[in-house]
Amino acid sequence: MIIGNWKMNTLHDDAVALARQVSQIPMREDTRVGVCPPALWCSSVGDALKSSPVMVGLQDCIGDPAGAKTGCVNAAMARDAGCDLVLLGHSERRERFGETTEALMPSVAAVLEHGMFPVVCVGETLSEREAGRAEAVVASQLAPLVSAAVDHDGIVIAYEPVWAIGTGLSATQSDIEEMHGAIRSHLGRNDAVVLYGGSVSPESAPEIFASEAVSGALVGGASLDSTKFAAIIAAWEQR
Ligand code: PEP
Repeated sequence: MIIGNWKMNTLHDDAVALARQVSQIPMREDTRVGVCPPALWCSSVGDALKSSPVMVGLQDCIGDPAGAKTGCVNAAMARDAGCDLVLLGHSERRERFGETTEALMPSVAAVLEHGMFPVVCVGETLSEREAGRAEAVVASQLAPLVSAAVDHDGIVIAYEPVWAIGTGLSATQSDIEEMHGAIRSHLGRNDAVVLYGGSVSPESAPEIFASEAVSGALVGGASLDSTKFAAIIAAWEQR
């Protein structure tokens, strides 16, 4: 599975043009590809991708039902806009809005209830890694999921070391393998889908994807360039 996170980039026409380019990328039937544009462009991006298997996702949503929540978008709206997935707990949101996995559990449940899948992002900061606390931090970010009464088969995890996001740095293959193994063991599920994210590029992808522990990638910057995104998808298919 390869998911592109467009973050707060693109105006409407750029998003539609990018989606049209993504719709032309050759991909195998068993490769699941998705893009997460800014929420405002989801419907237009979905229309541009209609004839392709590429999924559309939101970058966040809340679990609440409709009501007086100014500025929020909920899971029912995401589904109605044609979304298949929702990113939750991205480190940029954890940092800026103080989001925690615990507080996101209603969103996780609502996304699943509305027939989509959540991609729950976890990952440690550089200081946490340097202090030898990387696994403990990720375990604490996973803990509310482990104990939740939700359909665990429907949840995708994205391990994104914060220090590797947008920096051009990637975790080493052995760090990724170790953490993906730890994530599966904390979840108690050997078959959990665990994506890697953090400066995945056409250059870094082949080495990252060489590991059996990696189920795919969450791609930020490189997903804004359809040629790079296509090269990452090709690297996945050639692994
Ligand atoms: C991300 O923000 O999810 C991400 C992985 O970004 P980048 O690929 O740009 O590091």
